[in-house]
Amino acid sequence: MSFLLECPNCGVREVTDFGFGGEVSGRPQQRPTFRELNTYNYFRRNVAGVQREWWFHRSGCRAWFIAERDTRTNEVKFTALPGDASNDDPAGQASRVAADTGGDLL
Ligand SMILES: [Zn+2]
Repeated sequence: MSFLLECPNCGVREVTDFGFGGEVSGRPQQRPTFRELNTYNYFRRNVAGVQREWWFHRSGCRAWFIAERDTRTNEVKFTALPGDASNDDPAGQASRVAADTGGDLL
C-alpha cells in the first residue's frame, strides 16, 4: 500500500521515504507510577479512523514530524513539525491513552 505524505520541510513524497514512529501518546509529566509507565510504553489506541502519528523523513531532511491520518483510508489530513501542531488533536488522543486504560488492563 502506498500513499503520499507531505514533509513540512521537503514537500510531498512517497510514504516509502518515511519511517513510521507510532501514534502520538500522552507522555507522563511527573515521575510516573509503575502503572502509568506501563501504560505509556505498551498501550496504544489503535483506532480505525483519524489519529495523530509520528513520522520520520529518513530519506530526506531526517526530521520528525506529526501527521494526522485516517487509518482506514490513509488520507493524510495535515502534517506539521511538533512545535507547529496544535494541541487539539482528534478526540483528545494524547491525553486519552492514559485515561482509557486507567490501569484496568494491567
Ligand atoms: Zn523532509
